[in-house]
Amino acid sequence: MRIMLFGAPGAGKGTQAKIIAEKYQIPHISTGDILRESVKKGTPLGLKVKEIMEKGELVNDELMADLVKETLTDEKCSKGFILDGYPRTLNQALTLEKILGELPQAATYKISIDVEDEKIIKRLSNRRVCKVCGYIINLLEDGDLKSCPKCGAENPFYQRDDDKEETIRRRLEVFRSSTQPVLDFYKNKNELIEIDGDQPIEKVSEKIFSILN
Ligand code: AMP
Repeated sequence: MRIMLFGAPGAGKGTQAKIIAEKYQIPHISTGDILRESVKKGTPLGLKVKEIMEKGELVNDELMADLVKETLTDEKCSKGFILDGYPRTLNQALTLEKILGELPQAATYKISIDVEDEKIIKRLSNRRVCKVCGYIINLLEDGDLKSCPKCGAENPFYQRDDDKEETIRRRLEVFRSSTQPVLDFYKNKNELIEIDGDQPIEKVSEKIFSILN
């Protein structure tokens, strides 16, 4: 099974992708996580994309195409995958069609998690990430936790550079201008499954599972 998960930044794609990956035992491929890891390690790719990501802009389609092709053709994706954060432009959607066309065929679900912009800004500006294990908390729901409930690290929570309000607004603009056309493209082909993301995490997961089952 292949799943492409869409949603504005902060709609909850990463959270849902992890839950789905666990349930169906398929790898969670987050292009944002792969890029952040490259930045952290200071790889040649990381050095190229650091500034772009900090500004909330998109990394160019050619770099992304190489990264996604290399990842999806890897043996670990042979039984399926959940793709989170790609494609984000129409050009990337066409590249992905080509890559998938060269892989063994499997059912592909395109799921969009929808949340209004103002709610997203509130969510993201209060999002904090554990620097050790990547666990995500929200200050409004979880409070200002001093240790990570998942890995136990002390004082591990930090704010992603691109979760500052000004950058969030830019990321949303980029989403509406570059990624919305991708959603409209799939919607016009009747291939897009839309889910209301303004509900508790478990409710969104239940809805996704009911579709996948
Ligand atoms: P995310 O964690 O998915 O919100 O991605 C964080 C950042 O990584 C984005 O704001 C972009 O700068 C970059 N990025 C991730 N995926 C893509 C993509 N498919 N195309 C271009 N840039 C991307």
